[in-house]
Order: sequence, then structure tokens, then C-alpha cells
Amino acid sequence: MSQTKQINQSDIGDILENSLNGIRPNHAECLRLLESDDVPLMGLTAGHLTKKQFGQKASFVNNIILNYTNVCITDCKFCAFYRSPGAEDSYTLTLDQIESRVKVAWEMFKIRQVLIQGGHNPNLRIEYYENTFKMMRQKFPNIGIHGLSTSEIDMIARIEKSSTKEVLSRLKDAGLQSIPGAGAEILVDSVKDIISPKKISSVDWIRIMEESHTMGLPASATMMYGHVESNADIADHFFKIVELQQRTNGFMAFIPWNFEPNNTLMQKENLVPYGKGGIQLLKMIAISRLVFDGLIPHIQSSWLTNGVGMAQLALQYGADDFGGTLIGEEVVSCTGARSTELTGKLIVDAIHQIGYSAEERDNFYNSIALL
Ligand code: SF4
Repeated sequence: MSQTKQINQSDIGDILENSLNGIRPNHAECLRLLESDDVPLMGLTAGHLTKKQFGQKASFVNNIILNYTNVCITDCKFCAFYRSPGAEDSYTLTLDQIESRVKVAWEMFKIRQVLIQGGHNPNLRIEYYENTFKMMRQKFPNIGIHGLSTSEIDMIARIEKSSTKEVLSRLKDAGLQSIPGAGAEILVDSVKDIISPKKISSVDWIRIMEESHTMGLPASATMMYGHVESNADIADHFFKIVELQQRTNGFMAFIPWNFEPNNTLMQKENLVPYGKGGIQLLKMIAISRLVFDGLIPHIQSSWLTNGVGMAQLALQYGADDFGGTLIGEEVVSCTGARSTELTGKLIVDAIHQIGYSAEERDNFYNSIALL
């Protein structure tokens, strides 16, 4: 059957036809996409839009994650990583430990990005972060610093009795270069009240993102789906990000990833017995491309929780970026869902397996090498 005939027969054909003509779905149409089962045709359309822009090519970044502390007082129900202050197995990395981890990763893998994320640790003052960023910019100038979610920025501001703007400005001066999208989960407060009642509200997430974009700190946006949210909540999430991006143009990438319930309070309380799996991931990737086409350039495949095989499929369903090697990641690993340790070579092989060329990129999605 031809693509046109398929589109004419689909319950979402009108939306996909618009997409092929450069018209993005609106909020109501996004909801219709979420309610539809026609994932293959969404993927075909999203994959077509992606190929039109990027060709048969997928990018990735050699990076590590520095989970600098697991001490946290925010008690999110979806988190298996955190420990209360004083817990026997809690930790906070020292500046020397951070330096030696980054040094080893630079020497072994020539990493181009360190993703820095940790718990909301009430014992850490802003100088801890400033000293870390200054050390990294000075000793490893080729490595981008992608760090601190909006909720960590908010925590630092509360500890320092300062504004988030002031904190962002000091951290930027110390060497912070971009902000990861974590902490968004689903940007609907009735959802946040269930899964992370002590974390910042959706309004605060958007405000801090807007502040960072405005002062020249670009960011990624994320969505953690597959827990207590409805399709209407997911549509709201997409469109809050659309509206912010239309104002600031500060998001470089969007990353949808599925909630992994193992070892979390949400599983213990039987709120979510199992994750959403592969088809839902492909649907979210495809809808992300359709909703953000021409607005947010990059959509990342979520290999960390879904594995390399799913990431290869995601690249056909609207993702253009494989993501990072994420060496040293500890948060998802605590749920047992981490699929494997990946090196740049394994990512390049996975991209070549589907007949694409691989592009190593830096923190800002600039090309470093075509492989
Ligand atoms: S997700 Fe982050 S803020 Fe929430 S409990 Fe875990 S470490 Fe703390």
C-alpha cells in the first residue's frame, strides 16, 4: 500500500498530512496522536521528516555522567538512587575525586561532555559547584559542562537564600555551559503532587528554564512518561515546552524516556507494576518529532532504559541523536534497567548496523567527526 493511501485510511491521516506539509499538530491533534494506535504510520511520517533534515545520519556524544552526590531530601517516589543525609551508603564526591574521574574519562575516551547531576544535598554550598566548574573549564577546556537540573538550581538558591537567577549567573560565570532537562517529569502539578510532591512545580521548572535560556545557557527538555499521567497530561507537557521554546528558542534537544519502576516506592506502593516498553517509546519519539518539527532540532533516542536495539528503531521513528555514552551513570542503574555499558565504538557500530553514518558531536551539537 502506498504511503498516501495508508495516510488516507488512518484515523490520524489529516494530522500526518499536515506534518508532511510543514504544519505541526496543535494541542488537540497531539492528544489525538496519543490516543491513536497507528504507531507505524506516525513513525513513517516522523522518520521521513527526520531524514529530510538529517539524511541517513545519527549523532552521539562521548560523555560521562557525574552523579556527584546521592544525598537528597526530596524523596521522589520514582527514584531508587537517593539516600537520606547521614545514611550509611550515602556519598558526596570531593573535588579531587571529580577531577580524577574526568581525567580518566578524557584520557580513555576523549569525552566531550560531562553531565553533572545529583541529589538535593542540603550540605552543599554554591562554592562546591563553582569550584567544580572552574576546575573543569581550566583543566579540561574541550569538555562541555552540561549540568544541574532546574530543581538542583532551585535547591542551591534555597540554601544560599538567593534567587535562581543569581545562582544561574554565578554558575555560568564559573563555567556551566548548558542545563539538562531533568526534573520536568510531567509538567502537570496534579501528577507531580503524586510522584514528587516535594520537588519544584511545573511553573518553577519553566521559569528557571526561561531564566537560563535568557542568560545564554541553552538546555535540553525531557519527559518521563509511563507512571500516573494521562494522555491529556502528556499533551499539556508537550505544549508547555512548545510555548517556552517559541519565546526563548533555548532548547537544543528533547528526550522522552520511560519510567522504570524497579526498586522505587511507586512499585512498592503498587502504583506502577512495570514499565511501558518499546511500542510506547517509539510512539513518544514519533510524536516528539511531529510536535517539535522545526522548533526543537534534536530528538534523542532513549537507549539507556530501552537498549541499543530500541535505539536503532527510534532513529527510524523520529530520533536523530543516539544520546551519550553515559559512562558512570548511577541513577537508572539503581533500578536495574540500564541496558549495558556503551562506548563510542559500540554506538558507532549500532548506527552503522542500520546503514546510517555516525557523527560524533560536542555539547552544543556541533560536529566533531563523521565516522
Ligand atoms: S529524583 Fe533527584 S530530587 Fe528526586 S529523590 Fe531522586 S535524587 Fe532526589
